[in-house]
Amino acid sequence: MNEVERLRILGQYGILDTPNEEPFERIAALARLIFETPIVLISFVDDRRQWFKTNIGVDFRETPREQAFCNETIRSDEVLVISDAEHDIRTARNPLVTGIPHIRFYAGAPLVTPEKARLGSLCVIDREPRRFDERQKAILQSLAGLVMKEMELRRQTDQDWLTGATSRLAFQAAVERLVEREEPPSIGLISFDIDHFKQINDRFGHLAGDRVLIEVVDVCRTALRDCDVISRLGGEEFAVLLPGATANSAFAIAERLRQAIEASRCPEMDGTVTASFGVTMFEPSDQSLADALRRADEALYRSKANGRNRVTCSWVQSGDIPNGNRIAGNGI
Ligand code: GH3
Ligand code: MG
Ligand code: MG
Repeated sequence: MNEVERLRILGQYGILDTPNEEPFERIAALARLIFETPIVLISFVDDRRQWFKTNIGVDFRETPREQAFCNETIRSDEVLVISDAEHDIRTARNPLVTGIPHIRFYAGAPLVTPEKARLGSLCVIDREPRRFDERQKAILQSLAGLVMKEMELRRQTDQDWLTGATSRLAFQAAVERLVEREEPPSIGLISFDIDHFKQINDRFGHLAGDRVLIEVVDVCRTALRDCDVISRLGGEEFAVLLPGATANSAFAIAERLRQAIEASRCPEMDGTVTASFGVTMFEPSDQSLADALRRADEALYRSKANGRNRVTCSWVQSGDIPNGNRIAGNGI
C-alpha cells in the first residue's frame, strides 16, 4: 500500500492529537504488567512524526518520524525486536538511544487495519538490553490486535455507515475541538437538506435513494477542502463545518456545493437531485453546536420556502454580516 493511501486511512480514524482514552490505557497497562517494561507506547506514524496515543513511561507525545523505531515496524506485519539498540547498526546513533529515554530494548507489533494499512505500533521499551521469545511476540501481537479492535469501533461510530460522512457525535466533537482552542478560528456552518427526497424514494425505490445519499456526500467531499467536515445529521440532512471560513467564503462554498449536487447524475434515476442550503457563522455567544445549527436551519427553511435549490444566509434577514465581511451580490 502506498504512503498516501496509508495516511488517508489513518486520517479516517481521527485519532491523532486526541486525549488519552481508557481502553487504550488499559491495554498498555496490561502490556506493562506482562512484559515488565518501564515504557509502553501506542504510536501512530503520521507524515512527519510519530504520535503517541498512550505514552507510559515518557513525558512526550511525539518524536520526528526519522527517529521513530515504529517507522521500521510498519514496514512489515511481523513483531520487530531490537534486543540491544546501542549495538544495532539500525539504531545505535538514534537520539532516543544516545539520549532520553535511552532506549536499549524495543519490541513493537504493527497496528494493522482490516484493509492492511499499518498505522503504527504497540511497543514495549526498556533501558536495559533484553531477549524476547516467540511466545512474548505472540502476546504483543494479540494486544496490538485489541488496540485495532478499539480503533475499528471508533471508526464505525465516528462515521455514518451508509455514506461514510462524519457521524453527528463526531461532528459535535470536531466543533468542540475548534471552539475550545485558545484562539478559535472563524468558523462557517452549512446545513442542507435534499429536495423532495421522499419522491425520489417513491419513484425509484429506497436503494436508489441510498445511492443518491452516497453520491451527494461524494460530490460534496470533492468540492470541499480536507479540513472541512461533512456530517450526515440524519435522514437526508447534512451539515458542513468550515474552519477558517469567512462569511463570504462560507456562502461561496455552499453555492459551490449546491451547483455540484445539481450537476451530479445518479445512474439509478433519471431526474436531477437538488438540495436547499442554510449558512451561518459561529458567534462567540454560541453555547453549543445546537445554537449555530438553529440559525443555519432557519436559513435552510427559508431556502425551502422560496422554491428550494438555493442558498440562504442567516445574516440576510438580520442584516448583520458576521466578521465585518461584505457579501457581494447575495440575492439568493
Ligand atoms: P423537502 O424538499 O421538503 O425536504 O422534502 P423531502 O421529501 O426531502 O422531505 P421529507 O422529510 O418529507 O422526506 C424525507 C425522506 O427521506 C423520508 C424518508 O423515508 C427518507 N429517508 C430518510 N433516511 C433515508 C435513508 O437512509 N435512505 C433512504 N433511501 N431514504 C431515507
Ligand atoms: Mg428533504
Ligand atoms: Mg429532511
